[in-house]
Amino acid sequence: MSTTQIVTLVDFEKPGKQLGRLAIPQSTNTSGWATEYLPIAVINGAPGPTALLFGGNHGDEYEGPVTLLKLAHTLEPDSIRGRIIMLPMLNRPALAAGARLSPLDGKNMNRVFPGRADGTITEMIAHYVTTVLFPLADLVIDIHSGGRSAHFLPLVSMHHVPNTEQLRAMIDLALAWGAPYILIYRDVGGTGLLPGEAERLGKLTLGTEMGSAAQFGVEMLNLTEQGVRNVLRQAGMLIDRAPDPPPAPPQLMAADQYDDYIMAPVSGIFEPFVEMGAWIVAGQTIGQIHSIEQPFEPPTPVSARTEGLLISRRAFPLVRQGDCLATLARPFRLP
Ligand SMILES: [Zn+2]
Repeated sequence: MSTTQIVTLVDFEKPGKQLGRLAIPQSTNTSGWATEYLPIAVINGAPGPTALLFGGNHGDEYEGPVTLLKLAHTLEPDSIRGRIIMLPMLNRPALAAGARLSPLDGKNMNRVFPGRADGTITEMIAHYVTTVLFPLADLVIDIHSGGRSAHFLPLVSMHHVPNTEQLRAMIDLALAWGAPYILIYRDVGGTGLLPGEAERLGKLTLGTEMGSAAQFGVEMLNLTEQGVRNVLRQAGMLIDRAPDPPPAPPQLMAADQYDDYIMAPVSGIFEPFVEMGAWIVAGQTIGQIHSIEQPFEPPTPVSARTEGLLISRRAFPLVRQGDCLATLARPFRLP
């Protein structure tokens, strides 16, 4: 794999705290030698493991960026065992545009991993993460939420990685977060995910879906910040105190069948019949889609093919054929 073109303007080995940036060459119509900057924070404490924390992988999910910016200001090296590297705005151009995908190349950061050294800006960032940051890391956290398009019950997520020891260790960390659900999911929306790449490299990796449906509120921001702090405590990296006990035992769930992801059969306006957290049975009609072109035709019913808890639902009512409308998850037990 060729060498990154991104310039690292922090020193990963230097003791103490650095709030700095990465520089990405991005030639434009009006500036031949233009540069895009990505903020990066490095906090080096006592010798120990390295945690990599990402926010803003998708540009319309602001829980991660705000949480990591606050942690960058408040975490100090004397309370850290090991090294914490934070990229609060991984897809900064998308974040600035309020868009899920990068406005500079139209790409989804969470579909281009492991990236390309000579690719578009999103691919270059992914390649930098894969080749420069992942080799430094023991623990990887990628903070997501539903953004504008989806509502999620707050959850910490991971794939069903083949290495059972790795899976157990990831679940142990996820339990410390304090979110009500831990979800084991599969890739129905394509491959090339940041967490998938980190998992394959053997890193203890946690993703999240911290609520949303464009609801950016105090409760979810608190859960996100306390969750990151608790995971760092559980990993022995934040040494201020023991992790908070979760308010209720988190439920371990899996959406591990393709049919757990219910896609829109036609385009139109999706009217839901069921609320978040409802238990759905196979064959149940979970909503209907009203046609915009033929409004007085009967609406198209949307049915579940599996049973499970409604853990995620489409937030934006206008849907295109093939959009994910709902995800069902069932209790999961470790083998
Ligand atoms: Zn996301």
